[in-house]
Amino acid sequence: MHGTKILEEADRLMTVCNSCRYCEGLCAVFPAMEMRRAFSDGDLNYFANLCHACGACYTDCQFSPPHEFNVNVPKTLAIARAESYAAYAWPRALSGAFARNGLTISIIAALSVAGFIFGFAALNDRQVLLGIHTGPGAFYALMPHNAMAALFGAAFIYAIVALAMGVRAFWRDIGEPIGMLADPGSLWQAMKDAGQLRYLDGGGVGCVNEDERPTDRRKIYLPVVLGTLGGAGLLIGPAGLLAERSKRDPALVDEKRTGMDVAFITMLFLTSLTGMALLLLRDTPAMGPLLALHLGVVFSLFITMPYGKFVHGIYRYVALVRYAKERRQAGHTV
Ligand code: SF4
Ligand code: SF4
Repeated sequence: MHGTKILEEADRLMTVCNSCRYCEGLCAVFPAMEMRRAFSDGDLNYFANLCHACGACYTDCQFSPPHEFNVNVPKTLAIARAESYAAYAWPRALSGAFARNGLTISIIAALSVAGFIFGFAALNDRQVLLGIHTGPGAFYALMPHNAMAALFGAAFIYAIVALAMGVRAFWRDIGEPIGMLADPGSLWQAMKDAGQLRYLDGGGVGCVNEDERPTDRRKIYLPVVLGTLGGAGLLIGPAGLLAERSKRDPALVDEKRTGMDVAFITMLFLTSLTGMALLLLRDTPAMGPLLALHLGVVFSLFITMPYGKFVHGIYRYVALVRYAKERRQAGHTV
């Protein structure tokens, strides 16, 4: 017996897959599954977070619908993954609301903070808000450096604490003592796997999106997001990921929880957009309102980060650490 219906379904599918094993070369999920004969809740959550939804095992499966076995591993693991984010989130009460209305909450948070800064500056000195400020300290005319540092320092610390609590809950759920997270060999192997985007290509052919033709577009946009800190890269990366997401075959995605996926990528896009606008218009009267808007978006990005798509990257890395560890324990070279 499992804790949720989706984990029951994941257990059923993993039992079918463990007999079939056709997909064992596609990603890390299937080799990890083959190391077990029975699956605990923690094992299934571990598989769900090892999966990156490339869709290859759905396209390749001879038991996918309309076959009576009804095997859809990507969708089942996507739902289990989203439920695991909610289960590990800290504080837990926030995760449910975010899963349902992630984008709305993010935008309201951004506009609230932007409105607060705008209102504060307007009440303080309208000339400062709508004036032209130049030079290195121009941004601090609207909001003093110390106030800005305190506001964003608090948001950043909150995000780090919430993420750390989530990782702790995940690591415990998959049955590992917390000290094992410091195993240098596994950390390094997982870092190499993540850095090389290993397993992100559906066994070498690419990800399946709108049809059954594999493509590497997600693999291309992801490093643009991760690797280009600022500028046009952070506009193109999130926009590309959102476009690819909208084209995904509905059979592969967890449609009920799009808020979690879309909110983080949208806020990343808006951070870049408002940041670029700010840089371009910093010597005009638009600088004050734009700075308030940009700070609101960045603040919202930080405080909603622990409840959205961003956590997938963290949990996936942690799942890869465990995978590296159990592969070494089983005597595999990698
Ligand atoms: S997804 Fe289908 S083809 Fe792949 S291992 Fe499972 S049952 Fe076999
Ligand atoms: S969707 Fe891709 S990553 Fe997920 S289990 Fe299937 S082949 Fe592996």
